Amino acid sequence: MGRRVLIALGGNAIKQPDEWGTYEEQMRNVYNTCRQIAEIARRGYEIVITHGNGPQVGNLAIQQEQAQHLVPPQPLHVLGAMTQGQIGYMIQQALRNVLGDERPIVTIVTQVLVDRNDPDFQDPHKPIGPFYTEEEAKRLEREKGWRFRLVRPGAEKPWRRVVPSPQPLGIVEAPAIKRMVESGAIVIASGGGGIPVVRGEDGRLEGVDAVIDKDLAGEKLAEEVEADVLLILTDVEGAMLDYGKPTQRLIRRMTLEEAKAYMAEGQFPPGSMGPKVEACIRFLEYGGERAIIASLNQAVEALEGETGTQVVRD
Ligand code: ADP
Ligand code: MG
Repeated sequence: MGRRVLIALGGNAIKQPDEWGTYEEQMRNVYNTCRQIAEIARRGYEIVITHGNGPQVGNLAIQQEQAQHLVPPQPLHVLGAMTQGQIGYMIQQALRNVLGDERPIVTIVTQVLVDRNDPDFQDPHKPIGPFYTEEEAKRLEREKGWRFRLVRPGAEKPWRRVVPSPQPLGIVEAPAIKRMVESGAIVIASGGGGIPVVRGEDGRLEGVDAVIDKDLAGEKLAEEVEADVLLILTDVEGAMLDYGKPTQRLIRRMTLEEAKAYMAEGQFPPGSMGPKVEACIRFLEYGGERAIIASLNQAVEALEGETGTQVVRD
């Protein structure tokens, strides 16, 4: 059985929904997460870790906005890079303190290639950052070309910025990440879905303001580092049928075909479980051995096939 695993950490690995997001709170969560990852490492797996950054990049966006008269605000793709450093640092330190220094643990600032012609650039829908008054929104639309959507009609600040969420086409730093993982390092990469970049006609890369789904970017990275297993960790036991209804039940095992059928039935909504199941489907279609969706608290058992939702080819 293959021993290279890509672990995608959900938001709860760093911040619980009821927390404010102080450094101390986040570090406590990261330690809990790293104890799970350390156990996986001790069992001999090669590990690449990716993670979300929603609350962290949202807070940074608020800081840019509030401090704009003191220091120049930076674009969203730069904020993405900042959160990769921030969260990567916390994981590097916690994991090293839990695991010891037998294996190198490194974070790679990761760019993810997207297509400027991705349909999402025409119709952006991913809300990000603070809320704005009508006047502020109009000004930012004019000055920066930002797009807005009315998200809280009637409120004092009813508008919110929306950005595209394009498909990940490739991981720019993947060859380096692959070499590192082959040499035994635990690598944290593609945080927050990666920094979205487009390639110009001259071949040069350029950052764009967008947000790539972290599970879909993680899946692309899993392909490029030739992972055997994709392990998606979140705040529920796994993918469920009839989620939220009295008939709700955990899917313990599903084949690729079953996953596609449930997806077509609308069992997994966009923005939450949908991209996780889509990532599993893509990973198996690429040739991956196994994909798992499980609770962060049951990461080890899920990787051993004992719990969570196991997605297999047939
Ligand atoms: P993460 O931050 O871990 O990526 P998300 O919030 O994006 O997590 O997705 C996990 C959430 O998906 C769960 O907390 C659950 O509320 C929701 N969800 C929606 N549909 C389903 C489903 N069919 N099965 C399980 N969870 C689902
Ligand atoms: Mg969540």
